[in-house]
Amino acid sequence: MHFDCAIIGGGPAGLNAALMLGRARRSVLLIDGNRPRHAAAHASHGFLTRDGVKPSELRRIAHEELARYPSIRRCEREAADVEKTAGGFRIHTVQGDRFEARKLIIATGLKESFPAIEGFRDFYGQSLFSCPHCHGWELRDKPLALVSEQPSVFRTAMLIRSWSRDLVVCTNGRALLTAEQLERLRRHGIRVALSPIAAFYGREGHLEGIRFRDSTTIFREGGFVTPQLSQRSAFGAKLGCAFNKMGGIATDDYGRTSVGGVYAAGDATSVAPSQLVIAAAEGSRAAIGVHMDLAAEMY
Ligand SMILES: Cc1cc2nc3c(=O)[nH]c(=O)nc-3n(C[C@H](O)[C@H](O)[C@H](O)COP(=O)(O)OP(=O)(O)OC[C@H]3O[C@@H](n4cnc5c(N)ncnc54)[C@H](O)[C@@H]3O)c2cc1C
Repeated sequence: MHFDCAIIGGGPAGLNAALMLGRARRSVLLIDGNRPRHAAAHASHGFLTRDGVKPSELRRIAHEELARYPSIRRCEREAADVEKTAGGFRIHTVQGDRFEARKLIIATGLKESFPAIEGFRDFYGQSLFSCPHCHGWELRDKPLALVSEQPSVFRTAMLIRSWSRDLVVCTNGRALLTAEQLERLRRHGIRVALSPIAAFYGREGHLEGIRFRDSTTIFREGGFVTPQLSQRSAFGAKLGCAFNKMGGIATDDYGRTSVGGVYAAGDATSVAPSQLVIAAAEGSRAAIGVHMDLAAEMY
């Protein structure tokens, strides 16, 4: 089957790209493995008109909207491989389908790896989160922890202070903070725990505290754990796309990558903070880029 554009990834970036291309009457294939990045969260925030919506509900509404446009085909499959052809791109799915398209948008997002700490998954998305801008409001004024093994720990701690003055920074045994940073945190009333962590504990998704390997514990009601982020798919690298300093696929203002016919949008480009609204906007931008380039080929 041949499409004007194939989009791999049906998060907000891919969904908005499909919407814009469908509205431009382009034939679009949206291939999505249906593993949204924010699925762990009970509610997503900061998306105007959708503040507090469940991630699954956001998707349901988007699918309903896409169904109004006859040139969009949504396909719940996992893309396994992409190759360049004379006329564009060929996409193979894990399930054995083969699709062809003139243009390709990569919207496969990022994946997160967290420090291996017992109990983490019991609280992630309910009282532990990765992004303070997304969930800081829900945790405001509570006793919080920031668990980070990343060099950004000092900066993140100072950000979180805006939501709660009762903050303990836990570096899980890593010596990440300079003497000057430790002193600044102390001056702002932020405590630091340098010992390795044994476990998060609590009940039914509600964090109650953190136990350290030296058997000490601290009482905390919630917090943030900083993940290590990496590309969810290798399609950008495989096709030879250039990457930016943040490890995202480099694009111009219309989502064009360094490889002709390949566009990228959303978290996969990593140039902006990880946000639903930014990913959706980037999807729209890449779709307009695709539409403009397809039109230019007819001049
Ligand atoms: C726990 C959590 C909570 C969050 N809360 C918020 C919030 O409240 N507000 C906010 O603005 N942001 C929030 N975010 C960030 C937000 O989820 C991301 O910025 C946003 O989802 C990025 O959109 P995307 O379309 O680029 O990628 P994603 O949403 O990650 O979507 C990528 C899609 O591509 C699919 N995919 C990947 N590889 C393939 C493949 N090979 N074949 C087919 N499909 C594939 C995946 O299944 C997925 O559906 C949160 C993130 C997390 C982890």
